[in-house]
Amino acid sequence: MVLYLLTFTAELENLTNLQPRGGCDDPNFTYCFKLKCENCGEVSQKETYVTMSETVPIPNSRGTANLVQKCKLCGREGTIQMVPKHGEPLTLERSQKEEFAKLMVFDCRGFEPIEFSFGDGWVVESTSGTKFNADLSGDDFAEYDEKGECPVGISNVQAKFKVAKKQERYGKTTYI
Ligand SMILES: [Zn+2]
Repeated sequence: MVLYLLTFTAELENLTNLQPRGGCDDPNFTYCFKLKCENCGEVSQKETYVTMSETVPIPNSRGTANLVQKCKLCGREGTIQMVPKHGEPLTLERSQKEEFAKLMVFDCRGFEPIEFSFGDGWVVESTSGTKFNADLSGDDFAEYDEKGECPVGISNVQAKFKVAKKQERYGKTTYI
């Protein structure tokens, strides 16, 4: 089992708090990425979709996971389980410092998640407080904020997976 932390950033124009529509632990937000087999190194051709509210039973086990999949090349089975409560919205301040915000932790067996794809289902607010639903499938988002009388936009979206390090501090677990 390896824990992977998915982090993301983007250039925000007069916007802040970019996050999944129901918050970082939105049970219906879909994460889309590819899988690399830890056994043979094969990268899945099709993208995989995982959603926290959707679980499947793990064969020969009592447990469940958000994804159970077999490698097409070597047949090795792998599972992915999402670990909520570690995400945070991308603020304007973070974006300006080109820092990445934590989005989700994935507990992976047999596969390494790679190449996250941004899709629909995001929400962001303007610096004057107007909320916008954003579809980042095309990577960019541009609108006009009537209240703040300024253009707003999201561009240069980036995401990366890295092996998460568990940190216990004051009885609280965080992943860095
Ligand atoms: Zn394989």
